Amino acid sequence: MTNEPQPPTRSEDSAQPPMQPPPPPSAPATDPQAFSEEHAHKTCPACAEWMPNEAFVCRMCRYDLRREAFADARPRTNGLAVASLIMGLVALMIFPLIPLSALGGLLALVMGGVARRQIKKSEGAMSGVEMARFGLWLGLVAVLVALGLTIAAYVLDVEVIDVDLST
Ligand SMILES: [Zn+2]
Repeated sequence: MTNEPQPPTRSEDSAQPPMQPPPPPSAPATDPQAFSEEHAHKTCPACAEWMPNEAFVCRMCRYDLRREAFADARPRTNGLAVASLIMGLVALMIFPLIPLSALGGLLALVMGGVARRQIKKSEGAMSGVEMARFGLWLGLVAVLVALGLTIAAYVLDVEVIDVDLST
């Protein structure tokens, strides 16, 4: 067919690219003014009413926003207490590897003890005393198990390494 359109010339091509860039993904409907206003305000957690950032009490429902500040100051869990608990569990699980288990148990014991001291010193800012105590006990049990196995192997005159190789 002679009606076929001619391919566009180079000048036309550069003037209007064939592929338009995609439109920006759904820009927010709010205008810039409202956007900045949103950042200067906060919303009431009880009734979603907007209020200035400095407000302490919601003007609509009298919700006390200082409660939120107190909620943020909740005690955080002591990291060493968590580490002690995990290390104590791992040390007990690998009890056939006597030297590693004893070392892990010892670490859990020390970390649990230090964590307990840190939590006590923080006077309520840190939590995790139960975790630290549990990690400490797990570590102690792991050390005692390793010690008991070593003594048993010595008394029964069994080479631990030979037992491992025979299985
Ligand atoms: Zn409110």
